[in-house]
Amino acid sequence: MRVRLAPSPTGTLHIGTARTALFNWLYATNNNGNFLLRIEDTDLNRSSDQFTKNIIEGLQWLGINWDEEPVIQSKNIEKHCDAIRSLIERGLAYRCYVNEEELESIREDQKNKGLPPRYDNRHRNLTKKEEEFYISEGRDCVIRFRIENDTLISWNDLIRGPITWNSNDLGGDMVIARRSDHSEIGAPLYNLAVVIDDNAMRISHVIRGEDHISNTAKQILLYQALGFNVPKFAHSPLILNSNGKKLSKRDGVTSIDEFKSMGYIPEALANYMALLGWSVKEGMDEIFSLKEAAEVFTLNRINKAGAKFDWDKLNWINSQFIHNMPTEKLLDSLIPLWKGVGWKSFDREWALDLVNLIAPSMTFLTDGISQSRVFFEDYQLEPNAIEQLKNKGAKESLLVLTKLIKLSKWNGRDIDEGKNLINEASKEADVKKGLIMKSLRAALLGSMQGPDLMGSWSLLARINLDIKRLEKCIQDF
Ligand code: GLU
Repeated sequence: MRVRLAPSPTGTLHIGTARTALFNWLYATNNNGNFLLRIEDTDLNRSSDQFTKNIIEGLQWLGINWDEEPVIQSKNIEKHCDAIRSLIERGLAYRCYVNEEELESIREDQKNKGLPPRYDNRHRNLTKKEEEFYISEGRDCVIRFRIENDTLISWNDLIRGPITWNSNDLGGDMVIARRSDHSEIGAPLYNLAVVIDDNAMRISHVIRGEDHISNTAKQILLYQALGFNVPKFAHSPLILNSNGKKLSKRDGVTSIDEFKSMGYIPEALANYMALLGWSVKEGMDEIFSLKEAAEVFTLNRINKAGAKFDWDKLNWINSQFIHNMPTEKLLDSLIPLWKGVGWKSFDREWALDLVNLIAPSMTFLTDGISQSRVFFEDYQLEPNAIEQLKNKGAKESLLVLTKLIKLSKWNGRDIDEGKNLINEASKEADVKKGLIMKSLRAALLGSMQGPDLMGSWSLLARINLDIKRLEKCIQDF
């Protein structure tokens, strides 16, 4: 069993392509088969190495690896041309000299009659004389593959069940090579190239998006004409936006590197992508690793209907992965982000405690920047913290607390010691413990919300920031 992903490097790795990759990978892994990669770079004007790099890095980031060296489609052009020549020699393909104006007038005519656009196969049987005439006019030609009328093309789609297409609905004889001078073969086109390459790569199952269904019908005709074994096909549902339309660039984020920079972690995104269309058996947890999913993955649990993209669910899955991540690993994922905002020097043990403190309230990796900021940089007091510090007795009790801290051996290590200090200060200043704790939070963190107070205080004490912040508030209020 051999499957493949065949992305065109004409843009960054799109979530739809990544999900197709994932289904292929899961299917191959479940069946002990091979998952291959082919870069379809034959549209030289739109393809770029930078996009190839982006696609490869995006797949690797998601944990999708492939067997064998990636195939680069442009290296196979000669083989594609040979196949086209053989189709011409066998009378299954021909040169068509119809020019753009003529095609336009055919389309116009069909439009007026309310018919779907279709090439009318008018150059299928040109005589030698006619052909010479067009050449003498200086016309160039495309190469078309003959699609006989009234032929039913059927396959048993592994996701959608039996599918039948009528050859009359394929737009007439299909262009398989771009315009060129009649003496050469123009650039081979997608449907032809895919069939030659999939056959050469011995692909047994083609799993791709449902937007390729009509291509599949055309490709089956080519497989048959070329005498190749027809692979099995499976067409996965499209990913839809909240309006039920195909998810597109206009919906904002669609590219894998954008998800990455938004703070999604690869395991969570891959988990969510698998659930876009595929569902787990009853009783199986919806949070899983790719390895776990691969053990139970089958195509018949993929839905036919489009899969709506659900941000809330993705965010929830992301938070689950973050909450369950070993602290060491989470810290290692955060360090590059911290470095990016200039926080470079810290004690690892301290940083691990910081990560433990904030992890339960993180949804995105990037929350690890916003929620750590107050431990690395000065803060601006938020309005409700200002209100808190203006309360009667707040400043006085912080003064007492600061004095007691200085007299004690508090260094942030022993939380009980910190709790005792609060109790003592509450007695000495004759205020409620709650007042001290809220004021302490305001002074240490500049905000009334945020992580656990004792944990935060401990971290700040260990880098000698607690007394500094307390004294600054006492001075300012
Ligand atoms: N290059 C095509 C695409 O990116 C491949 C489709 C296929 O899987 O055959 O849509």
